[in-house]
Amino acid sequence: MDVARCVRGGTIKGRSGLLAAVVLGLFAIAAPAAAEDVALTFDDLPTMALTGSLDYTATTTSRLLAGLVRQRIRATGFVNENKLEAGDRPQRVALLSRWLNAGMDLGNHSYSHPSLTNTPLAAYIDDVSKGERVTRALLAARGRAPRWYRHPYLETGPTPEVRQGFEAWLSQHGYRVAPVTMENSDWVFALPYDDAVLRGDAAQAEHIRRAYLAFTAQSVAWYRQAAADVLGRRPSFVLLLHASRLNADCIDRLAELLRADGLKPITLERAVADPAYAIADTYAGPDGDEWLSRWARTLHKDMDWDSFPEPPADIVAEDARLEPGDDPAAAKTGCGRVGIKVRSYAKVRNPKRCATSSVRRLSPERSERG
Ligand SMILES: [Zn+2]
Repeated sequence: MDVARCVRGGTIKGRSGLLAAVVLGLFAIAAPAAAEDVALTFDDLPTMALTGSLDYTATTTSRLLAGLVRQRIRATGFVNENKLEAGDRPQRVALLSRWLNAGMDLGNHSYSHPSLTNTPLAAYIDDVSKGERVTRALLAARGRAPRWYRHPYLETGPTPEVRQGFEAWLSQHGYRVAPVTMENSDWVFALPYDDAVLRGDAAQAEHIRRAYLAFTAQSVAWYRQAAADVLGRRPSFVLLLHASRLNADCIDRLAELLRADGLKPITLERAVADPAYAIADTYAGPDGDEWLSRWARTLHKDMDWDSFPEPPADIVAEDARLEPGDDPAAAKTGCGRVGIKVRSYAKVRNPKRCATSSVRRLSPERSERG
């Protein structure tokens, strides 16, 4: 619905008062919510980490869930079930149960985090289908079913046929797409933070936490302004985060930072009830864009990517240096596969490239190709 353009184009002019009243009614629906809200979503469960060690994974999960409960946040976690494949599988499945026991929701993030841009549709659907077995059973034991799908790299399909084909499968299986309208490049900071923690380097860990929170404040401000530019108002946001030790250790300060900006944590379901999420998104192509970009395309609006904040160069370099695939435990659990992808994107996205081309973000959940 593009009410603003309709009015600017003079559609109301000369029409009956009834039509004007109808349009004004639509304005009322689209008016800014009393509170600007944000839903927190965490990808790559059980954890995105430099190590697949069960101890590290369990500690991250405990701290993250304790923080979310303490902050009264009902988050949604998106699972990659390939990370459960290890000798200690029951303990890893139990970590997912803990998310549900803590009042969180769980969604499907595929089995092995494939790219829909590079994977044939039938193979992709097989992977997504394989990726719900444990989660569906855990939810069914509580009288629930998986409701949300988050595309790896936010890639929704390279062609209209692939996109429509996959979305038909999703709806046949009771899923809704979980969009993203805010992110803070947490993945850039996450592996350097793991590295500092694993080496026992408390000073570096503190440096990364401070840098991460400062960068988050900049990113949040940028997305709020971008939303205002695209929509003429600020919607309820859906914030993409990853289930990392960094977020587990920063969750209280993250929650404070969001609340200080007037962003009240709400559920994913409530966030996407905002009328903005009904704006058409007809993009079919190789890129993994967040939804503000998609709406900007539909509404013919610009986004000021030149002003997008850059993470600190020392942390970007640390992220590029790390070799998560070398960690035997990670390789064993499949975590390294995601980590390798993380690193490959970090390598592609270097400051030089961003300085000379339009600044677009690349992350485990966001890709740019071609
Ligand atoms: Zn992911």
